Amino acid sequence: MINIISAQDHEEMKKLANLVRVMNSLGHNPATSGNYSLRSQTSPEIAYVSESGIDKSKFTEENFLPLYYKTRQMLSENIAAGRKSSDETDIHLSIYQITNANCVLHSHLLDSLLFADLFDGKPFATIEGLELLKGFKGIKTHNLKINIPCFENTQDIANLAEEIKPAILAQENNYGLLLRGHGVYVWGDSVEEAKRHLEVFEYIFKYYLNSRRGY
Ligand SMILES: [Zn+2]
Repeated sequence: MINIISAQDHEEMKKLANLVRVMNSLGHNPATSGNYSLRSQTSPEIAYVSESGIDKSKFTEENFLPLYYKTRQMLSENIAAGRKSSDETDIHLSIYQITNANCVLHSHLLDSLLFADLFDGKPFATIEGLELLKGFKGIKTHNLKINIPCFENTQDIANLAEEIKPAILAQENNYGLLLRGHGVYVWGDSVEEAKRHLEVFEYIFKYYLNSRRGY
């Protein structure tokens, strides 16, 4: 059990809390929606996941709850205090279980829903040919295809959290997934990298929506 959050983790939590408030002001989190997390850099078995039901305009580093991401167990003092991590916690934990991500962002941005609708019924949204794809880690050219996994929305998050794993593992150079009628998950090695990846996704959404492309 951890009792003290390391200074390094605390700094990252402050950085992410600040990003949450900025994202909220840009329409990513209407009506307390969206959720956020970090993998601890000093206690690698721990992930900090945002607390359920918090108005994201008021979100601070105090609103992250530590969980053991392999067992999904929350620390007992938080359970006793009646605190609860996001309803979508299992999605975050699955991403930590199968990738090297250290930060996961989940947005309900309207453009992410409209973009997913362009690929209705498809398991992936395939994108290609944009210079800004080089904003994704490891990509050096516009000349490649990226498959973003798309899933139907559900309230059975435990099942969805298992379902996403093979789809994520099957894709190279992809740092996100779409839930139809719901939103987008984006991840990266750090708060900065996850933010940069989100900016690339937002740009892709706008480009495809404005050019009315879809497959
Ligand atoms: Zn959501």
